[in-house]
Amino acid sequence: MKPLEQIYEELGIDKDVLEFGNEIEQKLKDRFAAIDETVEYNQLKVIKAMQKNKVSDIHFAATSGYGYNDLGRDTLEAVYADTFHTEAALVRPQITCGTHALAVALAANLRPGDELLSPVGKPYDTLEEVIGIRPSVGSLAEYGVTYRQVDLLPDGSFDYEHMKEAVTDKTKMVTIQRSKGYQTRPTLSVERIGELIAFIKRIRPEVICMVDNCYGEFVERIEPSDVGADLVVGSLIKNPGGGLAPIGGYIAGKNAYVEQAAYRLTTPGLGKEVGATLGVMQAFFQGFFQAPCVTGAALKSAIYAANIYEKLGFAVLPNGTESRHDIIQAVTFGKPEGVIAFCQGIQAAAPVDSYVVPEPWAMPGYDSDVIMAAGAFVQGSSIELSADGPMKPPYSVYFQGGLTWQHGKFGILKSLQKLKESGLVILGE
Ligand SMILES: *Cc1c(COP(=O)(O)O)cnc(C)c1O
Repeated sequence: MKPLEQIYEELGIDKDVLEFGNEIEQKLKDRFAAIDETVEYNQLKVIKAMQKNKVSDIHFAATSGYGYNDLGRDTLEAVYADTFHTEAALVRPQITCGTHALAVALAANLRPGDELLSPVGKPYDTLEEVIGIRPSVGSLAEYGVTYRQVDLLPDGSFDYEHMKEAVTDKTKMVTIQRSKGYQTRPTLSVERIGELIAFIKRIRPEVICMVDNCYGEFVERIEPSDVGADLVVGSLIKNPGGGLAPIGGYIAGKNAYVEQAAYRLTTPGLGKEVGATLGVMQAFFQGFFQAPCVTGAALKSAIYAANIYEKLGFAVLPNGTESRHDIIQAVTFGKPEGVIAFCQGIQAAAPVDSYVVPEPWAMPGYDSDVIMAAGAFVQGSSIELSADGPMKPPYSVYFQGGLTWQHGKFGILKSLQKLKESGLVILGE
């Protein structure tokens, strides 16, 4: 049998790179053990929900056409609702992505004349067009829904003073983004989300509080729905799909609001009753079953990357020691070559398309060239190991995912190898 070092060497990882990585890994034992405990907790939560709903192989059968009486679909929705402790859930392959899930939840529960409030600053880029912050065909603004925003204070705390003025008779819904996404503010812990919701409900109890839960599922032991969120919304090609769901999104929460979403997703009158699942149910169930463990792997990978690049003197967000509330890691290289080398390393470590060399390119919706690394089984899946960076100062790369910790580790070592080969880092100093 070959020693492990030799396999790494055959895959292009130098001895000093591996040793540097192993030294960091040694110091992370306690943190990794704590992640394993969260994985264990969430794994049991999912199994409990599956057992309660008597999940059986009949639920994996494909349906077609209208999809009336799709047992698998209805059971999966009950499993999501029980896991997130909500009254109901909508989990569908007809929801094409996270943005779509959020757009459906918003449009379904808002009416002309209503106002939507974001008390945590600017929402995710793609939602700007959904809301109409950037004028866009079919936006909520075109339907007479107004939007208001209260930014976080410079230290990242909630601006309660301005929220008091911003929550009015018109405020129908509040949208709270858990993950920082590609901003520099800290990600919100579930506990902080709970405090925010409690504050808003004290001013106006009937406001619908929706949380954009993308990248946050299973990172902690509780979800925003455990601390007062009326709706939680996310994408199945991120955490809850466990890397197996080939498409999809979910909307979970109070029955009345999920019903509204169903009528918006399909049609008035039909709602949840239609929507064939075409054979994706096994992947949805099995992906959800694996999701706590996969999220744990992605978290370990993010923490490992933070500690490696922090040790080498680069700015990392979150830093190497702080607690985590999503799976995204940012590393700032300060020059384009660093971002390029990092992304090329991640790509070279992939199980799929490892021979492809990513280059910076113009992309729709971005104001600079962007480089993206994704050797994924599911196109665009960001629970799989992936990285991207805009070619502009401060030259940061955003890194997330890793279906297994071992792949995450290999990807980061490969990125370090590329940085070493480009002369951007010098090991052993
Ligand atoms: C990914 C993401 C979205 C949008 O999801 P897509 O599947 O890319 O449409 C929305 N909000 C946050 C915080 C996200 O991370």
